[in-house]
Amino acid sequence: MAGKTKKPKLILVAKKGQQHKPKPASKALIDKGRKYYTHAYKPRDMIVDRGKGAMVWDLDGNDYVDFGAGISVSSLGYGSSELIGALTAQAKKIWHTSNIFFTEPPIRLAEELAKASQFARRVFLTNSGTEANEAAIKLARKYAADKGKLPENREIISFTGSFHGRSLAAVTATAQPKYHVGFEPLPPGFRYCAFNDFEAIEQMVSENTCAVISEVVQGEGGITPAAPGFLKHVQALCRKHDALLILDQVQDGMLRTGKLFSHFAEEGVVPDVVTLAKALGGGMPIGAMLIGERAENTFQFGSHGSTFGGNPLACAVARVVLKKLQTPELVKNVAARGKQLTTALAAINKKHALFAEIRGRGLMIGAELAPNFHGKAGEIGELCRHHGVLVLQAGPNVLRFLPPLVITDKEMREGITRLNDAISAYIISKK
Ligand SMILES: *Cc1c(COP(=O)(O)O)cnc(C)c1O
Repeated sequence: MAGKTKKPKLILVAKKGQQHKPKPASKALIDKGRKYYTHAYKPRDMIVDRGKGAMVWDLDGNDYVDFGAGISVSSLGYGSSELIGALTAQAKKIWHTSNIFFTEPPIRLAEELAKASQFARRVFLTNSGTEANEAAIKLARKYAADKGKLPENREIISFTGSFHGRSLAAVTATAQPKYHVGFEPLPPGFRYCAFNDFEAIEQMVSENTCAVISEVVQGEGGITPAAPGFLKHVQALCRKHDALLILDQVQDGMLRTGKLFSHFAEEGVVPDVVTLAKALGGGMPIGAMLIGERAENTFQFGSHGSTFGGNPLACAVARVVLKKLQTPELVKNVAARGKQLTTALAAINKKHALFAEIRGRGLMIGAELAPNFHGKAGEIGELCRHHGVLVLQAGPNVLRFLPPLVITDKEMREGITRLNDAISAYIISKK
């Protein structure tokens, strides 16, 4: 999909076990970053400098096959001339006006998102996934309030292993205690249910529920898909109790799993709200909350707002992204490359018995480490980087693969070769 641009020359940068030591100039910059940033992040010892297709280069000129795509964001890879064209054309017109005025790109994007979703009537644009979920949480609360439900009867249910963002409400919806510690008191009105437990959710949804929020394939939680029929079951319970079904597709949406909207693979599921971000902007910061018929009039003037939301630069790019994600060639590529990667992971596993399970959909793939390698995902990821391939982790026990959806057969093969080398080196080092 990289068009007619010349393929980057792939160089195997590291021998087995060898380290990429940053050169002095890069090291100085890294040290500055470590000095001035808060400790909230722990960036790797490299400065990413540029990218093309599914490859990135660090400031020292080392190349990497990127199996992380900036955490599922850069689905169209790096340096797409179409995205650059859309961005620069809009940049020459106007960058920002706020929502006191209309601009053209967000209007067009809202229409295109609503139509493509096959359910949404209205769209609220944000700058991130957290903000899209925050908006959805507020929407659900107001939906219940409008029906006369008291604050104590406006509970939001989420699932163990979920991830919904880091604002106080979104992190409270995130049903993983490790994200909560130290931030109490958390906002009230959130309850947690075991993911994929049909019985438990049936017990929990009640007149006091205003929404259930779920990913279709849990991302940060370890690449765990909803069990067949589970979301349909949840949807039926929501309908019964007049609660909203919110599907957080911030990570699994936008063709990541092989469908433009991840719930398209879930028979009979029509959500009330879908949240998007990550891949929607192809690297531009943007998020969206899509609202179906039931709650289309819940937000009224003054209910919610965002100064940057619907930024014309981000929206101009997102429109091109959305269009590209609907091309049959790209849909086919996701299926083919996904199969290629899972097959390769299975072959690696046959050799080394490193994984307990390889799972996922499309190009959203997780490899769960076997019990004797538990806790080693970070270490293995670092070794992969030293071998010129960037992989993510989902917790300490799962290697997570979210390559650009435009990754070519050749780039994929190169990435797999490097992965193979890194894992062989890891296994040898442990013997
Ligand atoms: C990343 C993520 C978020 C948070 O998005 P940000 O843009 O980082 O705020 C929310 N939900 C899911 C499923 C995500 O993967």
